[in-house]
Amino acid sequence: MFGAIEAGGTKFICGIGTGPENLQTEEIPTAAPDATVEAATAFLRARAGSSLRAVGIASFGPVDLRPGSATYGYITSTPKAGWRQYDLAGAVRKALGVPIGFNTDVNGAALGEARWGAAQGLDDFLYLTVGTGVGGGAMIGGRLLHGLLHPEMGHIRVPHDWANDPYPGNCPYHGDCLEGLASGLCSRRGWEPMPECWGRWCWRSRRSLTPEAANVRTQSIRGSAPEAGSAPKESVGPSADAR
Ligand SMILES: [Zn+2]
Repeated sequence: MFGAIEAGGTKFICGIGTGPENLQTEEIPTAAPDATVEAATAFLRARAGSSLRAVGIASFGPVDLRPGSATYGYITSTPKAGWRQYDLAGAVRKALGVPIGFNTDVNGAALGEARWGAAQGLDDFLYLTVGTGVGGGAMIGGRLLHGLLHPEMGHIRVPHDWANDPYPGNCPYHGDCLEGLASGLCSRRGWEPMPECWGRWCWRSRRSLTPEAANVRTQSIRGSAPEAGSAPKESVGPSADAR
């Protein structure tokens, strides 16, 4: 039996089980750190008892993922009150006494897609999430990608046809990076809702691609991976041709 915690800024989603077919979950509002961890670990302990073998944590950040770092497993410079420099992995390990896996929320999601979802069978892919911002997790050669800090994939450059689309983007740093063009903030500026935002970007970009490449990208963005063997691995995910 394995435990899982998706640690978010507004709620912790806790799970216990062995996979999607055997999974119990519970949501816990994110309060003060110690109280939140206590509630989360109490749920895991109550459901798993002595059969709990390990816990995976996918956390909001920024987090310290550097092996050997004195603050490995910490949520570091977050503005969220009380959580700055909090040893989340350590607190869960101390409460439950089992091995802890710790990663970013998006890398956790990427791992889930690799194991059970749209990225099964792929060694190299990106997982992108579009909301208020654009976040990304990555698997490269079968391993989750870690950088010095957060990879900030939302800030990659994407093709921009200024003649047809003069919107300058809303990223305060880059203007028309991916996040500046496609994030949820677009809708606040009188643009189309988010799914159409993505579609618009796909449509706008696909004219500069071969039909085959555009098709692969559209499938990837909409969450259905191309069928096995239908595309080379490096074509999956928007970043492959975002240059
Ligand atoms: Zn940017």
